[in-house]
Amino acid sequence: MRDAKYDILFEPRAIGPHVAKNRFYQVPHCNGGGYRDPSAAAAMRGIKSEGGWGVIFTEQTEMHHTSEITPFIELRLWEDKDIPGLRRMSDAMKVHGALAGIQLAYSGINGPNFYTKEVPLAPSALPIRTFTNDPVQARALDLTDIKNLRRWFVNAAKRSKVAGFDLICLYGAHGFGIFQHFLSRATNQRTDDYGGSLENRSRFAREVVADIRDAVGDTTAITMRVSLDETIGELGFSNAEVREFVEMNADLPDLWDLAHGAWEDCSGPSRFKEEGAQEILVKGIRELSSKPVVGVGRFTSPDVMARMIRQGVLDFIGCARPSIADPFLPKKIEEGRIDDIRECIGCNMCITGDMTMSISRCTQNPTFMEEWRKGWHPERMNEKGESQTVLVVGAGPAGLEATRALSLRGYDVTLAEATTTLGGRVSRERLLPGLSAWGRVVDYRQYQISQRTNVETYFDSRLTAEDVLGFGFEHVAIATGSRWRHDGVARQHVVPMPIDPAMTVWTPDDIMGKVHPENLAGKTVVVYDDDHYYMGGVMAEVMAKAGASVILTTPSAYVSDWTRNTLEQGAIHMRLDDLGVDIRLNRGVTAIRAGEVETNCTYTGRRKTIGCDAVVMVASRLAEDALYNDLLAHKDDWADAGIKSIKIIGDASAPAPIAWATYAGHRYARELDTPDIGDDLPFRREVTQLEPA
Ligand code: ADP
Ligand code: SF4
Repeated sequence: MRDAKYDILFEPRAIGPHVAKNRFYQVPHCNGGGYRDPSAAAAMRGIKSEGGWGVIFTEQTEMHHTSEITPFIELRLWEDKDIPGLRRMSDAMKVHGALAGIQLAYSGINGPNFYTKEVPLAPSALPIRTFTNDPVQARALDLTDIKNLRRWFVNAAKRSKVAGFDLICLYGAHGFGIFQHFLSRATNQRTDDYGGSLENRSRFAREVVADIRDAVGDTTAITMRVSLDETIGELGFSNAEVREFVEMNADLPDLWDLAHGAWEDCSGPSRFKEEGAQEILVKGIRELSSKPVVGVGRFTSPDVMARMIRQGVLDFIGCARPSIADPFLPKKIEEGRIDDIRECIGCNMCITGDMTMSISRCTQNPTFMEEWRKGWHPERMNEKGESQTVLVVGAGPAGLEATRALSLRGYDVTLAEATTTLGGRVSRERLLPGLSAWGRVVDYRQYQISQRTNVETYFDSRLTAEDVLGFGFEHVAIATGSRWRHDGVARQHVVPMPIDPAMTVWTPDDIMGKVHPENLAGKTVVVYDDDHYYMGGVMAEVMAKAGASVILTTPSAYVSDWTRNTLEQGAIHMRLDDLGVDIRLNRGVTAIRAGEVETNCTYTGRRKTIGCDAVVMVASRLAEDALYNDLLAHKDDWADAGIKSIKIIGDASAPAPIAWATYAGHRYARELDTPDIGDDLPFRREVTQLEPA
C-alpha cells in the first residue's frame, strides 16, 4: 500500500464544475501521431487513464483552419467531421475515471498555414515565428477578425463538449498560442483596445473565456496555459508580468496551467535542466488566485511531487514526459511500488516524433505509441509461447530490455555479459557530463530483473559461437552492441579518410574507456563531428573541461545538428561557446596528418589546415556482429544444438540511439514464439477515409 506521505497526491480537487480524483495531471503533449494516427493517439491516452492519472489532455488541437502548423502533425477540430476522432480519445481518457481535457490552439504568429493556404492572422503584422523561418508574414487581426476569432473559439468549445471533453485548455504558452501573442508586447504592438497596457493586452483572453463560459461553462472547465516567462527580456511576457496578469485576472479560468518560456525551456533535457527547475518561477503564483495551479518540471520523484503540493507551490503535478516514460506512475505510487517507476531520463527523444513528423518513441517506454498499433501494454506482456529458454548475449539497453520483457512473459532467461557491469553503452555514457540521468535506462531494468526468479545473469562472459552452440538454449538474442569507428567513415566519407598513424586519434569509446583526459592543458584537440547527434558536442565538452584548447569542426551548419529535434541544439552551442570551444561549422575533415588536420568547406571545398595534438573522431559506429556472423556460418549445427532461432538486435544489428535499442529488445521479447506474419504489415494503421470523388 502507498506511503501516507503521498496521501496528499491522492486528494481530490475541483476544477470548475468537475472534480479531479487526484493531483496527477497529464498536461498536453504531442506524440507525432495526431490527426494522422487518431486511434494510436487515443489508445495512448487510454493507457494513461488505466495508469491512474486524474486529468489527461490531448496534444494541441488546431481549432480553426485559418491557423495551422503544418508540417507538424497535431490534432484538428475544424468541423463536425473531426468530432468522432476526438470522441474516441475522450472516451479512452475517461474509462478509468480521469477528466478528459482538450487543448485548443490558435497558432497566430506561429502558424504558417502551408496546408490551408489561408493568410495567417495575428495580433500584429510580423513574420511567422516557426522553427524553420518560413517566408510568410501574418496580417494583423482587425476588429472584425477579432470578433470572428472569438466566435470560432466558441464553435470549437461547443464541438469539444460534443466530443466529450470535461476541460478546455486555452493555449497561450511556448510562443505557440494566440493568447500569449496578445499578452506579450513583443508580438502585440497594437495601439487599440487590445494593445498597450497589460489590461488591454489581456482583453482578448478575458473575452474568449467569458464567451466560452457562456456557451459551455456549466459543464466544461476552462483552463489557461501561459508561459512563466517568455525569456526574451523586458519586451516579452516576463515572469513579473505573468504574476501581474494572474493577479489582475485571478478568477478568469478554472485553473492556471503554468508552462515555461519557449518549448525548449519548458521541455529542458536532463543534460541542461534539473527536475523541478521551474519552482522559482512558479512559487507564489498560487497565492494570487483562488483557482488551482498546475506546473511541470519533469517530475519523477514522488517526494518532490508531494512537497510541491504540501508547500503550496502547486495544486496539480503536471507531467508530460514522466507520463510517457511511465504511464502507470500514479498507480505505482498509490500501490507503494516506488521502485517500479520507470523514470524519464530527460533525453527528449519523445519530442523528435513531433519534430520529424513521424511518430514518437520513448527511450524508457518502448510501448509508447504502440499501444494501438501493436497492441503493446506498458505493464503487461503477451502470453508466453511454447518454448522455455532464451539466451541473451550482451547487457546493453537492447539485451536488458529483452531480458526484462522476456522474463515478464515467463521465459527462463540467461543473460551473458562480457564485462562486469550491466548497461553496455549506457554504463559508459552515463559518466559523461550531463548524462547521468540516462543511467536510469540501466537502473530500472537492473532492478526489475533482480526481482525475477527466472533470470540468471553471468558477468565476465564474452561468449563465442562455440559457447552458444554448446549451451543448448532454444532461442538466442545477440545484443552485442557497436563500437565507434576510427577511420572517419560516416557521411562525408563513405570510405576511410587518409589518416597518418603518427597523429593521436581517439574515438568516443577511447575517451569513455581507456583514455583519461584529466589534463590536456596546453594541448589542442580537434573534435570532428560527422555523427551530428549529441556525442560530438559532449566530446568537445569533455576535452574542454580537461583543459584542452578545443576546435569542433563539422560539415553541418549546426553543432550537434540532430539535437534540434530534441530541443537541445541551442543549449549545446551555448555551453560549448561558454567553455571556449572554437566552433567551425560547414567544415569537414579531408585528411589527418602528423600534427595537423586538413579541413574543407562543405560548399566550396576550399581547404585549410589546423595544427593540433590529437583528434576526437565522432563519425559512425560499427556493429559488433562477429558472434552473430560466426553463428550464421554454423547454421547447420543449430538444430543439433537444440537451437530454434538466433536473432541479432539493437546496435549489433544497426547502430542507432538508445531508444532504438530498447525498442528492439522489447520487440524481440514480444515476437518470440509468435506466428510468422509473412509479408503482412507488423502494425496497424489508419488510412484517410475517401470522400465521394
Ligand atoms: P545495445 O545498445 O544494442 O544494447 P550496447 O553496446 O549498449 O548495445 O551493449 C552491448 C553489450 O554487449 C556490451 O555490454 C558488451 O560488453 C556486450 N557484449 C559484446 N560482445 C559480447 C559477447 N560476445 N558476449 C557477451 N557480451 C558481449
Ligand atoms: Fe523521457 Fe526520453 Fe522517454 Fe521522452 S523519450 S519521456 S525524455 S525518457
